[in-house]
Formats: sequence, structure tokens, C-alpha cells
Amino acid sequence: MSSLFPALAQEPDRPALRFGDRSLTYGELASAAGALAARLDGATRAAVWATPSLETAVGVVAALLAGVPAVPINPKSGGSELAHIVADSAPSVVLAAPGTELPDALGDLTFVGIDIDTAAAPGPALDGPEPDAGAPAFVVYTSGTTGPPKGAVLPRRAVTSTLDALQDAWEWTGDDVLVHGLPLFHVHGLILGVLGPLRRGGSVRHLGRFSTEGVTRELGSGATMLFGVPTMYHRIAEALPADPELVKALSGARLLVSGSAALPVHDHERIAAATGRRVIERYGMTETLMNTSVRADGEARAGTVGVPLPGVSVRLVEEDGVTEIPAGDPEAVGEIQVRGPNLFTEYLNRPDATAGAFAEGGWFRTGDMAVRDADGYVRIVGRKATDLIKSGGYKIGAGEIENALLEHPGVREAAVTGEPDDDLGERIVAWIVPADAERPPAADELASHVADRLAPHKRPRVVRYLEALPRNDMGKIMKRALPRD
Ligand code: ATP
Ligand code: MG
Repeated sequence: MSSLFPALAQEPDRPALRFGDRSLTYGELASAAGALAARLDGATRAAVWATPSLETAVGVVAALLAGVPAVPINPKSGGSELAHIVADSAPSVVLAAPGTELPDALGDLTFVGIDIDTAAAPGPALDGPEPDAGAPAFVVYTSGTTGPPKGAVLPRRAVTSTLDALQDAWEWTGDDVLVHGLPLFHVHGLILGVLGPLRRGGSVRHLGRFSTEGVTRELGSGATMLFGVPTMYHRIAEALPADPELVKALSGARLLVSGSAALPVHDHERIAAATGRRVIERYGMTETLMNTSVRADGEARAGTVGVPLPGVSVRLVEEDGVTEIPAGDPEAVGEIQVRGPNLFTEYLNRPDATAGAFAEGGWFRTGDMAVRDADGYVRIVGRKATDLIKSGGYKIGAGEIENALLEHPGVREAAVTGEPDDDLGERIVAWIVPADAERPPAADELASHVADRLAPHKRPRVVRYLEALPRNDMGKIMKRALPRD
């Protein structure tokens, strides 16, 4: 185990984790997680009540030490979604801070309180034999953006290979201090944001709730990296003009990283103009962990997710799912397929979905559509299921229209979809949250704004106004939840 996180044994005095005013060194983390791991003997799977807390981090590290697959649970999930996840993943125990009141869906499981103040010596699990690289480390449920969440079984090798590929791409070291404001029940916040720094021997400062003040405070006092989702960078972009301290803090950061959804070009450019720093985008999924990233020593271009990470093969294929599109034609849209040690092994209890997810040769069908620049940079156009509009004989990606709309000063948020149209096949619909609800920009004005920037056939034919877009807990736009007529 110690090979997953060498600093647990080697650097006991180094700071590891800080959540609010509570923190642990590597030595304290080794003791707490080692003692907890010893109590997991015989467990089959461990649900982890994944609040943004030291307890969650200790619980997950303990499960990894014990070789028990961890199932992170969103503490805000409830009802049928929680019942589904518990029934599907069938954990034998649930790990949570002592005294946590758990919902009924978890009530039948053996409760194991996560005690972070233990002074116990490291348990036997710390010295025991390491599980095989192919052994399951996690069952992580997908975000549920396009349908009910599916449980992706992630082997230990996926975790180590992705974190080590990011070490290379981001020049990530034990001296890095990460500012973290994401939830801990998805791969972004948990595997990248907590396990990433721990694997390097670096440290994490979690903000609890994201705030621009927290970012200013932490980056202004020694933190070097920020991981965020696009909604956070949007808040930063909005705040920068009136906040010189935030400008200063971001200007001094080593690395600003965005992922989980496309970062709007408008926000990328505004942050670059104000701070001189370009946000680096990386692209990944629950099923694949990380696939591509702009490299720390590379050029960060707005609207691209960079190049394949070391060890990961990425190809674009035509609609038949097997014919490769050669690199170099920036107009040729294809589905992204990936292969590498970063991949999940299966969707839990879903052999049908697992079989359907792979093309011949072990290529995973991501369902994401992209083009590639001549030098291999991947630009995501959108998801095949919701973001590709077939209109008037063209295949049009929603993303570039959304980016164009967001450049209009009257638009705060934008989502683009297609709906059936007798003439066009599908017509382009723009869902707009106006910057000023009293004075929403007119439909024809938005149409010509888009037509001026892109091609005329990409202009929205219908504009619908909303007070807010439906988003999930990662800030992802849930297009399937947009109102229907
Ligand atoms: P579900 O699979 O349950 O519908 P989901 O696909 O949102 O939900 P995740 O695995 O959390 O669940 O998200 C992966 C998806 O997020 C990718 O397939 C891609 O569509 C999107 N994504 C991640 N990073 C980026 C990025 N940098 N740019 C654009 N899209 C991204
Ligand atoms: Mg998905």
C-alpha cells in the first residue's frame, strides 16, 4: 500500500490535508487510516459518506490500504438515486464521521465511525501485501448528466496511472499545495483533488464551499494550484475586475486547472486578460479518469483540452464507430475513443452497458465528439447524445454556439440544443439566462450575433429565456432537464 502513497511512511511530519481549521500530517493520516483499515477486515465494499471533510479523505485512504473497494456517496443524494446506488453497489459497511445521521437507505449497513484523532500505531494493513494492480479500488457513480448514474469499477492501476500521467503533464511535485473547493464523491474532487496531492507527497487545502475569497486567501498564502469546474472559473472571471487581490493571487499561481465540463472561451479569455494566466483544461470521465490535458509546458489555447496524456491512446472515429479519422483536419468531427491503463473495467451489474461501451480492440467509446488541430490538440465539440445538432445537412456542435452566445453582453448563461424541424431535420434552440432579466437580448439580435461570429447556418432559430439553467452538483448543464414544450 505504501507504494500508492510513499509519503505516508516516509514523510510523517509533512502537512497532508487541511479542511477548514482541521488538518493532518502524513504521519497522522497514516495512523488514522491504518487503524481504520484494520477495522475493515472482511468488508466486501465500503460506502464512504463523502462530505467535504478530513473524515472522507481518511476513509478513502483506509479503504485503499485495506484493499476494500470504496463507493463514495454524495451526502446530498437521496430518495431513489441513493437507494439505487446502495442496492447496486451492495456495500457491507458504511464509513462516516462518528455521530453522522445516515438516511434509511444506508441503515442496514455496519456503521464504521472514522476517528481521525486516533493515536494508534499503523495497523497491519500498512505492511500487508499490496492488492493486485487490477483489483478494484473504487466503484464511482457517473454524474448522471445524460441518464441515471452508472457504477464504474476502477482498478488500482487506473488511479496510479492517471495520477502519474498528470505528474508528468503538470510537472506536479510534493511541493505543490492544492486549493480545492469541489465535492469528494466524483473523480475530479476525490481522485485528482485528494489522492493526487497525497500520491505526490504534497498537500491539499479544502475550502469547504468554494468562494473567490477562499481562493485569494489560499493562493495568496503559499498554495500553488487550483482545481475547479467551469462554474467556479466563471465566478472568478466575473469577480476579477473589482478584486485586485484575486488578480494578484491568480497571477502568482503555478497552475490553474479546469475540468468536468467545457470551460467557456469567454471566461478563459477574461481570466487571461486580467491575470496573464491561462487556465489549463483537462478532459476525463468517471470511466476513464484522465485522457487529455494541456501540458504545463505547452500552449494553453482557449477551447481545447490539450493532448493525450502519457500512456493514453486517443482516436477519433467516424459514425460507424471504427473508421479512424486521421489527425490534421480541424473540421472533421468524430467520436473520441480511448484506450490505456486509465480505463475502468466494467459498469457494475451492467454487462450490457459494459459490452456496448467498448469497440473492437478495447477502445472505450466516450460518447464525446471532437475535432483535432493539426498538432494533435483535441477540441471537444460536445456529447454525441445531446450536443450534436443535425441541421440543414450540417453536423453542428452546441459548444461553439454556446461560446458565441456567452460573448454577448446581454447573456449570462447559455445552452444550445436541437429540436425536430420539418425543413431542417433539427433546428437550433438557444436557452438563455439574460444578464438583466428586465432587458433580455432579442432573438434576432442573438441570431445575428452568432451568424457574425460563426457561419449563418449556426444561428439559433428559436430563443427561450430561463431564470437559471438546470445544473448538477458539478455545475454541469443537464440538458435532459431543460423544460419541454
Ligand atoms: P453520465 O455519464 O452519468 O451521463 P457524466 O458523463 O457527466 O454523466 P462524468 O463521468 O462525471 O459523468 O463526466 C464525464 C464527461 O464530462 C465527459 O464525457 C465529457 O462530456 C465531460 N467533460 C469532462 N471534462 C471536460 C472538458 N474539459 N471539456 C468538455 N467536456 C468535459
Ligand atoms: Mg458519461
